[in-house]
Amino acid sequence: MLEFELVPAARRPAEERAALLADPGFGRVFTDHMVTIRYAESKGWYDARLVPFGPLSLSPATAALHYGQEIFEGLKAYAMPDGGVALFRPEANARRLNATAARMAMPELPEDLFLRAVWTLVEADREWVPSKPGQSLYLRPFMLATDPFLGVRPSSEYLFAVIASPAGSYFAGGAKPVTVWVSEDLTRAAPGGTGAAKTAANYAASLLAQAQAQEAGCDQVVFLDAVERRWIEESGSMNVFFVYDDAIVTPPLNGSILPGVTRDSVLRLAEHLGHTVAERPYSFEEWRRDAESGKLRETFASGTGVVITSIGAARTRDGSFTIGDGTEGPVTTAIRDAIVGIQRGLRPDPFGWSVRRP
Ligand SMILES: *Cc1c(COP(=O)(O)O)cnc(C)c1O
Repeated sequence: MLEFELVPAARRPAEERAALLADPGFGRVFTDHMVTIRYAESKGWYDARLVPFGPLSLSPATAALHYGQEIFEGLKAYAMPDGGVALFRPEANARRLNATAARMAMPELPEDLFLRAVWTLVEADREWVPSKPGQSLYLRPFMLATDPFLGVRPSSEYLFAVIASPAGSYFAGGAKPVTVWVSEDLTRAAPGGTGAAKTAANYAASLLAQAQAQEAGCDQVVFLDAVERRWIEESGSMNVFFVYDDAIVTPPLNGSILPGVTRDSVLRLAEHLGHTVAERPYSFEEWRRDAESGKLRETFASGTGVVITSIGAARTRDGSFTIGDGTEGPVTTAIRDAIVGIQRGLRPDPFGWSVRRP
């Protein structure tokens, strides 16, 4: 078994840490350590290390910088009421990293090595797991192609790393409903493409639409399918749900939608709470018509960063519509409370999703 070499960092003083944890925001503050593991086609995975957080040294010819062979994951560690730390469904992230790796012609990382890498970092930086409501330690595993070679082909060498960032709530202002911009010209992912893979390239392709959303006074972009520009796919980095009296609808995993761990958790919890769930194509037209008639009760989005956020209104070039009265509805709140309760160890965990270090 590949063992981790531990190279401890000079830890920042407790007062400095406390000041940073008071209001960490999202993705700006990093802990004292990181994990790195190297891969070479000839050797497999080797050189697993816990090292001080710091710059990577890479050749300017590094393949990932030129052709975008980079993939990532996102999951959170939570401070539990008994003083311990738990991760939420980390095996799901380990599996998804490998599904993404396969699509991007990258090597798979054994799931147990992924889990040990994450836990090694969480344990080393245990003091950086914040404990106030809404706070968590966001973990960002990622893998990049490191061949110093400008030819176009899958790299033969890779670096896997995990970094950690204490996080408050993702959107400033917490549970305030967001307004989304429905992009009618820019798409995120096409059939046969990489939409279901958690790869940097998808984000690069989405940034202009996100910027247009912000210019239009919206918080987030919602993408339509690339073929008919008719079917709702997902929000920038979140899956979307439509709440009716008799069902909760979400678009099916058609290959161009990212299979969110939170999405899967919402579907299973919603059923557990007595809702009927339907994974079926859902058009922009249906969304607007049912929001305007009042038949649609709520719309929300899900992802690890924000967990659940209510969507209060949608806008296009032609106008906008409000969902319900624009405020967060009771189903959205109940599903968020159920997931967050499990994540933080405050509610029964019927699915065994909250995991302690083995
Ligand atoms: C990561 C991601 C999601 C949400 O996935 P979670 O596992 O729930 O965090 C949704 N859409 C995209 C494009 C993503 O990259």
